[in-house]
Formats: sequence, C-alpha cells, structure tokens
Amino acid sequence: MTLVAILSGAGISTDSGIPDYRGPNGLWRRDPEAEKLVTYDYYMADPAIRRRSWLMRRDSTTWRAEPNPAHRAVAELDRQSGFAVRVITQNVDGLHQLAGMPDRKVLELHGTARTVVCTRCHVRSSMEDALVRVEAGEEDPPCLACGGILKSATVMFGQRLDPTVLAEAMAIAKACEVFIAVGTSLQVQPAASLAGIAAEHAARLVIVNAEPTPYDELADEIVREPIGEALPALLKRLIPGPAGD
Ligand code: ZN
Repeated sequence: MTLVAILSGAGISTDSGIPDYRGPNGLWRRDPEAEKLVTYDYYMADPAIRRRSWLMRRDSTTWRAEPNPAHRAVAELDRQSGFAVRVITQNVDGLHQLAGMPDRKVLELHGTARTVVCTRCHVRSSMEDALVRVEAGEEDPPCLACGGILKSATVMFGQRLDPTVLAEAMAIAKACEVFIAVGTSLQVQPAASLAGIAAEHAARLVIVNAEPTPYDELADEIVREPIGEALPALLKRLIPGPAGD
C-alpha cells in the first residue's frame, strides 16, 4: 500500500487562529519572558512561572480553534484514497485529530497541549479538568495522585523529544513514497531532517510553505500558495479517481 507521510508545522494551523509560538520566528522566541513559561528548568524551579503558565493555558486560543480545510483535506485523504496516511506534526493543538484523523495515525513530535502530565509520577490526565481547577482558584494545581508538579504534555524547551515517537517518525520518512511538508520552515531539528531522510530514500518530496526552506532544492514540487487552498487541491490530485481515471 502506498505510504503518504505528511509533516505539518505551525503554518497549517494559522488559518485556525493559532499563531506560531515555537518556530524560529515564533512568539516565544521573540519574547524571553514568554519563553521562560515554556522552558522546563524555569518552569520546575519557579512557582510564579507556573502560575503564569496556567493562566496562559487557560487563555489559549487553542480551545476555541476549529480544524480548517487543510486539516480536513488530510483526514479526507486518509478516508478516501486507499493510501496509508501518516501525519507527523510539530503542532500540539490536536486539530488533525479533531478533523477526523485517527489518533494512532498522528505522531505528535512536540506532544499535546490537550493533556497534562505529572513531572513526578508521570500520570496523564485531561487539560480540560486541570483548567477547571485553575478556574476554581487553584493557581498551580498539583497532581491528584502524588502531589507532584503538573505540566502540559508538550515538549518544553530544554526537554528532549520522545525517542519512541521520533524513531517511528524516522521509520515513516524512510518507508514512505510521498512526503509532504506543510506549513513548516524546516529549520527545527530533528523534525526538519525527516524531509531529507525521505528524499534520500527516494520519496517524492513536496514542500508547501510560504517561505523558502533549507530543503527546497531536494523537493520535487514546491507550493507557495496559501495552505488552506493549496493543500486541499494538492491532496485531491493524489486521490485516485474512478476506474480508468
Ligand atoms: Zn503525580
């Protein structure tokens, strides 16, 4: 079965109202105070940072965001093409799944903002429940199981990517026939190197991004048009038509 890999970055979610936070030119990188809120050592060391982090999570635009046509086109490719489709995403917003991609087909390189994890006992629970506690007055809600410090289940600055998730992403990059990088500047490693690995292993490399990327010269096709229109059109071309088409 043809394996199609889609690597998505912040650019796929901007149409859903979620700004680029963690990219090289993202909001966090431009504001050292904001960056502390998502840097592991600061977060663990300073209760004031954690209180501000919880307020930032409470006020996040992610909770109101809806999948846009690009997310929906990916889910449709999965349902209608007969291809094996795998999403590797740098985003933590969960919008691919909300658009209908099955959880098991989405690799979240940077984790998810929709779950919280205890830094001591590693138990996971829902962000929604944690935010209810914040709303009710707990400024830095501790783990209900062990009293440890809770954080969102995202990879903070200073934390390493989950090696299992990364290994799976590498395997997909090596095995896929088509690799589509969408809305990512391909400047953050190791995610970016997946595009190079795919090209080395003879995948057709397609890059959909407004700005040039370091991998453009390896690409078979480059699309600069807005993602919300360009990606659905591109994926529609991939879906085999009725017999004889
Ligand atoms: Zn715990």
